[in-house]
Amino acid sequence: MIPYGRQEITQADVDAVVAVLQSDFLTQGPQVPRFEQGVAKHVGAKHALAVNSATSALHIACLALGLGKGDWLWTSPITFVASANCGLYCGAQVDFVDIDPRTYNLCPEALEAKLQKAEQEARLPKVLVAVHLCGQPCDMQAIHALGQRYGFKIVEDASHAIGGQYQNEYIGNSRYSDITVFSFHPVKIITTAEGGMALTNDESLASRMDLLRSHGVTRDPALMTHEADGPWYYQQIALGFNYRMTELQAALGVSQLERLDGYVARRNALAERYDTQLAELPIITPWQHPDSYSGRHLYVIRLKLDEISVSHRHAFETLRDQGIGVNLHYIPVHTQPYYQQLGFQHGNFPEAERYYAEAISVPLYPTMSESEQDLVIAALRKALGL
Ligand SMILES: *Cc1c(COP(=O)(O)O)cnc(C)c1O
Repeated sequence: MIPYGRQEITQADVDAVVAVLQSDFLTQGPQVPRFEQGVAKHVGAKHALAVNSATSALHIACLALGLGKGDWLWTSPITFVASANCGLYCGAQVDFVDIDPRTYNLCPEALEAKLQKAEQEARLPKVLVAVHLCGQPCDMQAIHALGQRYGFKIVEDASHAIGGQYQNEYIGNSRYSDITVFSFHPVKIITTAEGGMALTNDESLASRMDLLRSHGVTRDPALMTHEADGPWYYQQIALGFNYRMTELQAALGVSQLERLDGYVARRNALAERYDTQLAELPIITPWQHPDSYSGRHLYVIRLKLDEISVSHRHAFETLRDQGIGVNLHYIPVHTQPYYQQLGFQHGNFPEAERYYAEAISVPLYPTMSESEQDLVIAALRKALGL
């Protein structure tokens, strides 16, 4: 089976993890700060907080931004459920903004229309989670301008997008957002097994997230309500969690980070090769906005169903039957049973639902060979009935 995505683990990665196993610190040692500084420097952010998953990073990002009961979080329906669930974790309500039919990212025009309506109904969002689907950045300048006008905070869910760029700057510098989140799950661009990171240029948000990732407990005298009882003393000043990243994970991250730009370049080269080789097929290949250099986490094609004689499902199954590990990113979140029970219905976000009826993620990962890619292309032709 050719998988839709997979990690690369080199001997250098293995050595880095083994060295940590033989060191004094398995957690709360020097590797986590080293990884944080490495990523912050690479993308151009002031502060970076490593955590045990992007899901945790989204949770503490929302809490740090003050999201709570009575508030709204908005995001795209075409994302992994975690981009929306973080709002529910905070006791807030979640709503969605339909996607742009070209980029499949949250559509700024649909956002503006929804904001105008929400303003009249006094239910404007407090936080917007902008998801950079497949690694292609959202129209952040437009979203940021709307944020200024309507007073919401912005979290970039850049789980797919580390190593990519927006307007010639690395995604993660949070120029147009409050906080950016990365994921280091093995299918993503670089991995720490499980792991995530929150980046910000705002010192108070960084300090708040630092507290929340580790029980809400501080050893910083400046944050305590009174003078320390003694050198053993710590204070719990917020209700936090144990969302810490381990030293083993961070050492793997440091080692993987060295290959980040190479991975993204290779993903782009393979994606461009797909673009060329698939150009004549009855499918839509991923359109790229000129402002973006995508991390190319995923290569999503859309079937032109009116030009082929097979169904979406049949094409998908025929690919799987031929050993091609295709996938579908994503099932619109508002159609999940948990969200339907909150009141969402099929038909609420038509562009997202149209996308879901046509999309297939075909294999793309940096160690993929051109001959493997050729197998995917041949299998796809067959699956489309050509
Ligand atoms: C993978 C992913 C997440 C969750 O990442 P974890 O590190 O697995 O928690 C969140 N949002 C998006 C868009 C993702 O792809």
